Amino acid sequence: MRRPLVAGNWKMHGTRTSVAELIKGLRQLALPTGVDVAVLPPCLYINQVIQGLDGKALAVGAQNCAVEPMQGALTGEIAASQLSDAGCTLVLVGHSERRQILGESDGVISRKFAAAQSCGLVPVLCVGETREQREAGKTLEVVGRQLGTVIEDLGVGAFSRAVVAYEPVWAIGTGLTASPEQAQEVHAAIRAQLAAENAEVARGVRLLYGGSVKAANAVELFGMPDIDGGLIGGASLNADEFGAICRAAGN
Ligand code: PEP
Repeated sequence: MRRPLVAGNWKMHGTRTSVAELIKGLRQLALPTGVDVAVLPPCLYINQVIQGLDGKALAVGAQNCAVEPMQGALTGEIAASQLSDAGCTLVLVGHSERRQILGESDGVISRKFAAAQSCGLVPVLCVGETREQREAGKTLEVVGRQLGTVIEDLGVGAFSRAVVAYEPVWAIGTGLTASPEQAQEVHAAIRAQLAAENAEVARGVRLLYGGSVKAANAVELFGMPDIDGGLIGGASLNADEFGAICRAAGN
């Protein structure tokens, strides 16, 4: 039985004041015991969040890490070892905003995935197609290639200590959500691709759905057999809404 995971991606949002407010809201939440919950603040606020959530059963992660695992000469980047030192336990790799706006390639994302794991962090590999790719019937091909690069580079065994998040690009921050059936189809394909290499790894890996998840649509999405929780953007900036989504994952 896979334990659900709900992770809140705060993206590039927040100030010291708004982060303090959000921490206060998160501390007051009644979180379900059967669900792992994490928040991923901008790096600048990770210390504030870790200190503010001390004693609360909530993991803290980052939204990105450097291709090099250890500290060194790489201006502007943050190493996975530094994230680990700060108290992070997971990190996003390959978010579509980084693939699209910053041009991160599948190869670079594989390196970040490996860097994260080598420092004991759980990488959350984000995959997903654009609207044009979906309309051209290329969804499974695109997602299969994004996943396949990491399998080829690092071996399927790497997914025994990782999470995959399916996030259709057309659903991120747009208010459009994949239907539970659309999401399930891609999640099943991801699991099948992993199962073709190693059935046990495929059975154990958690597959999250992301893309305009709210309390109002979470129950239906999380009810699908291959959806093991969510990666939540906008809605994770509201503690009450985020709490309701976490409870939906516990149903
Ligand atoms: C995200 O950025 O990972 C995301 C899923 O965003 P949103 O929930 O706002 O669509």
